[in-house]
Amino acid sequence: MQLIPDGRLYGTNEQGLVDAEGILLTPETLAAFSAMQQAATAEGIDLRICSGYRSFERQQTIWNGKASGRRQLLDKYCQLVSPADYTEDELVQLILIWSALPGCSRHHWGTDIDVFDAAMISRDDLHLIPAEYLAAGPCHQLYQWLLEHAAGYGFYFPFQAGLSGVSPEPWHLSYFPQSGDYLAAFDIQQLTTLLQNSELRLKGSVLSQLDKLLDEFVYRVAPPPA
Ligand SMILES: [Zn+2]
Repeated sequence: MQLIPDGRLYGTNEQGLVDAEGILLTPETLAAFSAMQQAATAEGIDLRICSGYRSFERQQTIWNGKASGRRQLLDKYCQLVSPADYTEDELVQLILIWSALPGCSRHHWGTDIDVFDAAMISRDDLHLIPAEYLAAGPCHQLYQWLLEHAAGYGFYFPFQAGLSGVSPEPWHLSYFPQSGDYLAAFDIQQLTTLLQNSELRLKGSVLSQLDKLLDEFVYRVAPPPA
């Protein structure tokens, strides 16, 4: 088992990550990504990362913004809803449709990335919705290429229909030679302490059902390729 820096799994430690044009990753993830990117270039695909490491603080800002109504809150049909119309338990479930609980995002690890094809769509126009990656979408060719080749570089899609608690994300890749160990090292006690001492909104509801939330949104992911 590799050494994992304290706090890395929960987004409170950036130590040892490397900067790739403003995006932080583990050195191993970046090296594997660069090799994969080079191979994609030969196929006319401009493989780029739009999101890598994200801190606990950043994820908490997103979460608290949705819980308080300062940031748009969408239901599963992408309809705008108001936090005032829901109980705390209902709000937790609603936010989790589109956002990870702070401390529970795989983006805290530096091993997971969101990718797109910059030859087909600009970062500003990208919404990270499934339609962009499915047939006729601008990132469809990229997605097909990744399905065939990503595993050869150590990457796979952890969020897949029917296999993960998180909704399918055909843009989210994980570097499984590292992230498999990271998931195995995930520790509910450390997370509980972090959340108890945080400024998280809906903290009481979250802590009262943390076991269940972890099973659904952290542990239930598609298995890496054999
Ligand atoms: Zn992602």
